[in-house]
Amino acid sequence: MPPSPFAEALEALRRPLEFAAADDFARLPRLRGLAASVRSAAERAAALSIPAEARSRMRRVASWFGNDAGADELREAVRRGLAEIEPLCAPDFADVALDLPLTTLPGVGSRRAETLAKRELRCVADLLFLMPSRYDDRRNFESVGGLEVGRRATFVARVLVADFTTSRPRGRLQRAFQAVVGDESGTVNLKWFHGGEQMHDRLRKGALLLVTGDVRRYRFSKELLHPEIEVLEEGAATQSPSATPAPPLDGLRRIVPVYASVEGVPPRTLRRLVEAAVAASADVVEGFLPDRLVRERGLPPVATALREVHEPAQDADLAPYLRRRSPAHERLVLEELFLLQLGLEARRAGRAREPGIALPLGEERVREAAAGLPFRLTAAQARVLHEIEGDLAMPHPMHRLLQGDVGSGKTAVAFLAAVRAAASGRQTALMAPTELLAEQHERTLQRLAASGGAATALRIALLTASLPRAQAQAVRSALAAGEVDLVVGTHALLSEEVRFARLALAVVDEQHRFGVAQRQALLERDTEGRAPHLLVMTATPIPRTLALTLYGDLDVSVIDEMPPGRSPVTTDVLRPGEGRRILELLQRTLTRGEQAYVVYPLVEESERSDLRAATESAGKIAAALPGKRVDLVHGRLGPGERAAAMARFERGDTDVLVSTSVVEVGVDVPNATLMIVEHAERFGLAQLHQLRGRVGRGARPGTCLLMARGSTEESEARLRALVETTDGFAIADADLRIRGPGEFLGTRQSGRIPNLRLADLLRDADLVGVARRAAEETTRADPALRSSPRLARAVDRRFGERLALAGIG
Ligand code: ADP
Ligand code: MG
Repeated sequence: MPPSPFAEALEALRRPLEFAAADDFARLPRLRGLAASVRSAAERAAALSIPAEARSRMRRVASWFGNDAGADELREAVRRGLAEIEPLCAPDFADVALDLPLTTLPGVGSRRAETLAKRELRCVADLLFLMPSRYDDRRNFESVGGLEVGRRATFVARVLVADFTTSRPRGRLQRAFQAVVGDESGTVNLKWFHGGEQMHDRLRKGALLLVTGDVRRYRFSKELLHPEIEVLEEGAATQSPSATPAPPLDGLRRIVPVYASVEGVPPRTLRRLVEAAVAASADVVEGFLPDRLVRERGLPPVATALREVHEPAQDADLAPYLRRRSPAHERLVLEELFLLQLGLEARRAGRAREPGIALPLGEERVREAAAGLPFRLTAAQARVLHEIEGDLAMPHPMHRLLQGDVGSGKTAVAFLAAVRAAASGRQTALMAPTELLAEQHERTLQRLAASGGAATALRIALLTASLPRAQAQAVRSALAAGEVDLVVGTHALLSEEVRFARLALAVVDEQHRFGVAQRQALLERDTEGRAPHLLVMTATPIPRTLALTLYGDLDVSVIDEMPPGRSPVTTDVLRPGEGRRILELLQRTLTRGEQAYVVYPLVEESERSDLRAATESAGKIAAALPGKRVDLVHGRLGPGERAAAMARFERGDTDVLVSTSVVEVGVDVPNATLMIVEHAERFGLAQLHQLRGRVGRGARPGTCLLMARGSTEESEARLRALVETTDGFAIADADLRIRGPGEFLGTRQSGRIPNLRLADLLRDADLVGVARRAAEETTRADPALRSSPRLARAVDRRFGERLALAGIG
C-alpha cells in the first residue's frame, strides 16, 4: 500500500522514467506512449494537494514530455525528469513538506507568521492538524425577522445605515461601530466595540452581507456583537433592501469549521490559512493504520479525513462532527494513538531485552511465608503475586504497576516479593512519599516479618532523612554489608551515600507523588550494570485509558478485591451550621469504644492558619468530650513525636486523632470508624477517597463526614462522586472527568502525557484500547519494527523524544 496519494502518483511517474533510463536508455527507442503516460502521471500528481514547490516540479516534468519529442529530446527529458523528482522521492519528503514554514503558504508574510507563531502555529502541519473546536451550520439561512435571541444564526442582509455611535453606560464614554441591516422580513443591529475602523470601510450602505453570530437581546430589539461577516456585494449608495434580488447563495451554504481564535487573525482568515495548508499538504500525509482496521471501522483515507474534518461535506450529518467523532476524526485520532501505542510497545520491548537480575529461587519460601501470614491472601492478591513472581524469575527487569484500592493489601504482596528476593540473598528497597508513610510501612512490615517464623523473617530497616545521624549511618552500613533484606524509606534512599550490597527489587509506593526522574534514580543504583526489578504501587486507581497511555510501557496488575471482613462506609456531606452533628457523632462513636479521625487540610500558603485551626479544633473537641483523649499530629512535629502519637492511636490509647492531611495514606487502625474531613472542598477527589479508606477497615461499619465550608462547581462534583460510590475506579474516572488528564496527574506526572494533537484521552477513551490492540498486533511479530522502517521513523519522529525510545528504528 502506498503511504499517501502523492507517493502513489510519484511512483506512477518514477516507474516508467526509471524503466526508460535503465541499461543506459537501451529500451527507450522501443517504448511507445512513454511521453503520454509520463505527462499524465505528472499532471495527476500536480493536481493533488501538495506543496507549491512540488507542484511546480510536476508541471515542469509534464512540459518536457510533448507528444512530438524526438529520441534525443526524450532521453534528455527522462534524465531531467528523474533529477527533478529525486528530492520528492526521499523517504522523509512527507516530513519535509509538513515542516515547511507557514510563509510558504499563499497569504502568509513574515508579520502574519509571527502572529501565528505566538500560538505555536509555525509550520504547515500545525495548521493542518489544528482541529476545529466546533462547526457552524450555514446550510440554512434564517430570515432577519425570524432570528431568535440566544441562538447562533446565519443570514443574508443588506446594510441600511452604518456609523460610529457613542454611548455612556455608567457614565463612561463608549464608542462603537454599529450597522443596521435587514431583509424584507425585518432589521437587526450589528455592533463592534473594537475593530470598527475596518468595518467602517467594508460595511458601506447597501452592501449585501452574509452574517453569522450569536443573537442577543438589546433593550427592545435584537443585536449581534462582533458577528462574522462576509461581504457578498459591495455597497452602492442608493439601494433599498428589496431593490435588487440577492445573488445566488448556494455556493455559500456550507458547514463552516470554527477554530480556537488566534489574536490578531480574524476567524475567516484563519480558516483560509487552514484551507491553504490542506491544499499544500493533505495528499502528502502518510497513513499508518493497518488496512484491516481501516476496513473494519469503515474509515476514510487520511487525505480524505483531513479534508472532511476541515470542511465537512454539504450533506454531512453534523452531529458526529460536533462530538469530534465523525469517521474522519476517528481516522486521524486513531492514526495518532496508534503511533503512540507503538512507541510505548517499543519501549516495553526494549526494556524486556535489558539485562536484569533473575530470581529463580524461592518459590517454596514465598509459599511458606504466605501461609505464615496472619491472614489468607485474597484470590486477587494470590493472582498478582503470581504475576510478579513470574517477572522476578526472568533475567530482565520487571516493570510492573500494581494497582489496588486503599486497603486491598498491596503491602502484603510487596512483602512477599521481598521474601522472594531474600531467598536469593538479594535486597529490596521500598520507597514511600512521606516519612509518616515510610514509618507506617516499616511497622506493618515488621509485624508481617514476625508473624510466620523463618520463612517470613526478613531483616527490615527504616531510613529517612530525619533519622539521627548515627542511626542512619548504622542502617547504611548494614545495607552495604548485606545485613538488611528490606529497607523502607523516603527520598533518603536515593542519596549518594546509600549503597546496596545486592539490590534486586525496588518498590515505589504511591508513585504519582514521585517524579519519573526519582524512579529512574532508584533503578540506577549499583547493581553491577543490571537494572533491578521495579514494582510501582498505587492506590489511586488510574482509569484504564490513562494507564494504557501513561504506563503503556509497564505491565499492569490489579488487586480488584478487598480482604474479607471489611465493612461498608457511609458518606455524608455537611454544610456550615451542621457542626452539632459532628459532635454528636463523635460522642456516639467514642461511647461504643471506637476511634475517630478529624482531618484538616494543610496547604502550603495558609499553613499557619490551618495549623491553628487544627490546634483549636483539638482543644474544642477535648473540652466537649471530657474523659476522652485527643491527640494532634501535623507536619511540624519531629518524627519521634509523630511516631509516638501514631503509635498511641494504633494502640487505642487515644480516642480522637486530629491531624493535618498526613494520615492520608497508609494508616491502618481497624478500630477507627469515623472520619471527619474539615474543609472537604479543599481536598482532591483521590485524597478524599484515600482518607475515607482509613475507616471501615474492621468489623464495624464506618462513617465519613465531609464538612464542606465552601463550594465551587468542581468541589461539588467531587463531593457528589464520593457520596455516590466507593469504587476506586469509578472515583478515578469521575476525577479524570472533573479535572481532565493534566490536572488529574498533577504537574509532576503531566510530563508523562504525550502531547497529543488530535486525540482526547477522555473523549476518545475507547479508541485508546483500539489503538493499543492494533499496536500489539503489529509488534507481536516484529517488536522493534525492523521490517517497517517507515513506521518506525514515524513513531520516533512523533513520540521518540517524549518516550526516550530505546532500540527503535
Ligand atoms: P494497601 O497497601 O493496599 O492499602 P495494606 O497492604 O496496607 O493495603 O493492607 C491493609 C490491611 O489489610 C492491613 O492491615 C493488612 O494486614 C490487611 N490485609 C492485607 N491482606 C489481607 C488479607 N488477605 N486478609 C485480611 N487482611 C489483609
Ligand atoms: Mg498502602
